[in-house]
Amino acid sequence: MTKTAFAVTGFFLTVAVMAAVPTADAAPCLIVTLTGTQGGPPIFNGLAGPGTLVRYGEDSNNCGAVKMQFDAGRGTNMRLSQIGIPIEELNAVFFTHMHTDHTEGFADILQLRWHWNSTGPKIEVVCSSDTVSPLGFTISCKKFVLHIADAFIQSGEIAQRLSEVKERLAGGPADLTNVITFEPKDEPQLVWSSGEVKVSAIRSTHMAGHASYRVDTPAGSVGFGGDAGNDVFAPPRASSTSDQVEKLAKGVDIIVHSTMHPVMGPNRDSGLPPPIFYRQSGTTDLGAMAKRVGAKYLMLTHLFPPIGAGRIGPFKVPGGPLTEGDYRKAVEASGYTGNTIVGTDLASVRLPAK
Ligand SMILES: [Zn+2]
Repeated sequence: MTKTAFAVTGFFLTVAVMAAVPTADAAPCLIVTLTGTQGGPPIFNGLAGPGTLVRYGEDSNNCGAVKMQFDAGRGTNMRLSQIGIPIEELNAVFFTHMHTDHTEGFADILQLRWHWNSTGPKIEVVCSSDTVSPLGFTISCKKFVLHIADAFIQSGEIAQRLSEVKERLAGGPADLTNVITFEPKDEPQLVWSSGEVKVSAIRSTHMAGHASYRVDTPAGSVGFGGDAGNDVFAPPRASSTSDQVEKLAKGVDIIVHSTMHPVMGPNRDSGLPPPIFYRQSGTTDLGAMAKRVGAKYLMLTHLFPPIGAGRIGPFKVPGGPLTEGDYRKAVEASGYTGNTIVGTDLASVRLPAK
């Protein structure tokens, strides 16, 4: 073997060894961040509307190769700005359902992205296909996105901005979207993927077209219940949580879920209509579900009522404002012994933990 040939062989050997043994920088990681934890249309203490950012990547890019937003309530872009996530870097937005508290922040996100990043990649919007509610009206995520900037088109704002910067897309912010719809089913189905990241969805009960999601990555997995409740609308029932979410979330590392504290139940005097109480998952039942699926983390979000609120919209909190400990106690009553995160805006969990 000549000297040159040996050097070449040695070079390839080195490359092969480097590829086989990942360095610390190349270790896969995942960060789940609550971008808003307020439940429902009311506002309280500056909390943003419900939403969760999931970042996946490796140490060298701060787990940021893929960025997915699940629901986008009021103020989502402001929370993203606090953690240094430019909205043009969001790859996809997933909607659990069309209630305004989960969607209204998307108009802001899209408007801003259209302003300065019209020539960049489209944002993928993943949600349920059109469905007719039991009362006969149509719930349409597709139309929601298509008409996202109608008020600004009608006011002449979009035409004005177009006249200033020709690179902006002529149809307005909706032109910057690629809507991917699916028909929610009782079994998990793959609805989106990017490299090693896979997102699946399942039908769940809350309002027509509601879906819950699961993200799988080499660094771990996350289940998002959204506002899911049980198919059996009111007691007697085994649980207020969704059987489909439980099926979807089997074995996940993290569950992110909206919750309703038991104190708001019809046996107390909150004044909250029982159907609104029953269509959410109760805090203790969520602890029990997290225990059954073996989740290491339960992240409570969309807290109803928010911590510290004496009233929530027109409804009072029986016994006075709740503390973080009140939510924790409600989870502990289930026997769940994993990590409970009582959601506040920007609470995060990283996998693997640092
Ligand atoms: Zn909600």
